[in-house]
Amino acid sequence: METRDIKKLNDQFIINTYGERKLALVRGEGTNLWDADGNEYLDMFAGIAVTNLGHCHPAVTEAVCEQARKLVHVSNLYYIEPQVQLAELLSKHSFAARWFFCNGGAEANEAAIKIARRYWAQKGTPKPVIIAAEQSFHGRTMATIAATGQPKYHQGFEPLFPGVQHVPFNDIDALGNAVDADVGAVLLEPIQGEGGVNVPDEDYLGKVRGLCDEKQVLLMFDEVQTGLGRTGKLFAYEHYGVTPDVMTLAKGLGNGVPIGAMGCTEEVASGFDVGSHACTFGGNPLSAAAALATMNVLVTPGFIEDAARVGAHFFAGLNQLAGKYDGICAVRGKGLMVGIEMKEPVAPLVQKLLEAGIICGSAGPKVLRFLPALIITSAEVDEVVSKLDAALGER
Ligand SMILES: *Cc1c(COP(=O)(O)O)cnc(C)c1O
Repeated sequence: METRDIKKLNDQFIINTYGERKLALVRGEGTNLWDADGNEYLDMFAGIAVTNLGHCHPAVTEAVCEQARKLVHVSNLYYIEPQVQLAELLSKHSFAARWFFCNGGAEANEAAIKIARRYWAQKGTPKPVIIAAEQSFHGRTMATIAATGQPKYHQGFEPLFPGVQHVPFNDIDALGNAVDADVGAVLLEPIQGEGGVNVPDEDYLGKVRGLCDEKQVLLMFDEVQTGLGRTGKLFAYEHYGVTPDVMTLAKGLGNGVPIGAMGCTEEVASGFDVGSHACTFGGNPLSAAAALATMNVLVTPGFIEDAARVGAHFFAGLNQLAGKYDGICAVRGKGLMVGIEMKEPVAPLVQKLLEAGIICGSAGPKVLRFLPALIITSAEVDEVVSKLDAALGER
């Protein structure tokens, strides 16, 4: 099918939650994508921080094909070999002792919210309130839109799930004032993604950890976007010398095969017992095999360090542009999670870059966003910087 045929069927049969799109992408390899009309693009968005190893990474493709020939699905009524191997590998490389698997980020955060509530209920000291940050994004289910600190995601869905309070991100005093005896958990993205690529002060998360310890509150990091190498470490919390009690993962976990995970300490894991939570597809053989193969590449010595180096090179180039153009207010992010706040709405810029063969995105109206695969090269980011320079120069 050509793009116009695909668009025609979409407009007739798909519920219009995504609006008009420019492209129908039909093939990918590494950092390249091709549309239905045969045009090639450099992918600087990786399916929203999902295909962190690049499109159709051979190790993941091989693992998926092999698993698909052997066993695609059995339920969690049975032990699942690749799922337990994945959990062991994730634990080896993180603070978390135990894992619950599901299908995506919102479900992982639902599991986190549920285990926090149940953990305190089980202890006989119910503390149902969860504190989250303004400008956060935690997903689109009813509990996770309530946790999401952006009113635009709430409109028309009220009444919202109760028991969530919001405080400004990166403001330890506001958090301190909000924590009372009803608060059982604090849920934060270590670096906010959809809310504008907001990086906290170096000492903020450490102070949050201290406060949570003092007040006996669980600290839960939503690493759905920041995890799996995106910020130049396997998990973003590693930058800050802070470990949470609970962490959620999804986007990059299966390199495009849907899977989410909630990991926690042994202590918090006791909040769930037999029958208290479940997920039909969660960590099924196919998705777990994809995630296991993905993790094995991510933890290869040097892999994430190389990505961090390319990220630093990219930031250097972007900061040079920031010195040259008044329209750039700030360049923010870490590793290969990049946001450029502009004075003007960025939609026309995204379009210009697309016309120059570069796929990128935005985080809100005025933040241009790049989330390339971690295999992106210095030469490729140089190309992006020079095309962005040209696009800004034309304005
Ligand atoms: C994308 C995202 C989610 C939601 O993930 P889904 O898989 O779309 O449900 C949750 N939290 C963060 C930080 C995200 O970036």
